[in-house]
Amino acid sequence: MSSQLINGKEISNTIRTGIQKEVQDLIAKGITPGLAVILVGEDPASHTYVANKEKACKELGIYSKLIKLPEDTTEEDLLAQIKQLNEASEIDGILVQLPLPKQINEQKVIETISPLKDVDGFHPNSVGKMLLGQETFLPCTPHGIMKLLEYSNIEVAGKHAVVIGRSHIVGVPMGQLLLQHDATVTYCHSKTKNLQEMTKQADILVVAIGRAKMITADYIKEGAAVIDVGMNRDENNHLCGDVDFDSVVEKTSAITPVPGGVGPMTITMLMYNTVQSAKTKLA
Ligand code: NDP
Repeated sequence: MSSQLINGKEISNTIRTGIQKEVQDLIAKGITPGLAVILVGEDPASHTYVANKEKACKELGIYSKLIKLPEDTTEEDLLAQIKQLNEASEIDGILVQLPLPKQINEQKVIETISPLKDVDGFHPNSVGKMLLGQETFLPCTPHGIMKLLEYSNIEVAGKHAVVIGRSHIVGVPMGQLLLQHDATVTYCHSKTKNLQEMTKQADILVVAIGRAKMITADYIKEGAAVIDVGMNRDENNHLCGDVDFDSVVEKTSAITPVPGGVGPMTITMLMYNTVQSAKTKLA
């Protein structure tokens, strides 16, 4: 079977062109969208993610403010910093790069960000609205995946979508967005029995586990669309997904590569949310 390679970079560029236009229109009206990113500690992966976010802001004309804090930052200091940004008129979106050092309670941090600037979509207020299908900031990775499906003309309504992973960042909201688009949704996780039996029913399989190349052809139904969220390092230290691309591709009707699939979309939807937030100043 010939498989459609879902080009996240290309789709992301198309969406970014639209965002750039919106930024220019806003700037012409005296509003420069602004994103604040807080990075605590020295986690190398986090540094890379933050650098990519800054680069995207620059390319699109979004003002970005990077606040780097030392590993031993107290929770109190971080919360104070967030409260300042909640009040800052030049800032439309606040993102605290996760994970945080262990002395800081992540949930408390997320809840301190104003829901009006919660461009990651992790605040309970945003999560609740998402579940109710109300307008809100959608979490960037699952929102980006919905865009990948849309731009690739992959029908969701009536399909059986299986999501492996139930994190608050990816798995859970992913299933909810698919459900809202009329898929029949099954969640799988580490306690799921007979995982292969579940995944072999999937017309759309979204994999967000965090285990290099775990999903092989044995897990795939012929003709399935496979979305690989995983970002791992293989035995040669190369970036790879949770899906064993080479063994799976032949069976699929469409598949995302890693890199170049889901990854670029996550940052694009962060830019999208920031601009949506800035647009509320027009009213
Ligand atoms: P988490 O570790 O928070 O969640 C992993 C999920 O996978 C859990 O629900 C866990 O189940 C489940 N799981 C673990 N082992 C198995 C197994 N053997 N069988 C079935 N399910 C299993 O990870 P995230 O959701 O944050 O991220 C997942 C992956 O996606 C990572 O590789 C991460 O780097 C990547 N990622 C990529 C992004 C992108 O932009 N491309 C953005 C965010 C994440 P249980 O709940 O029972 O523990």
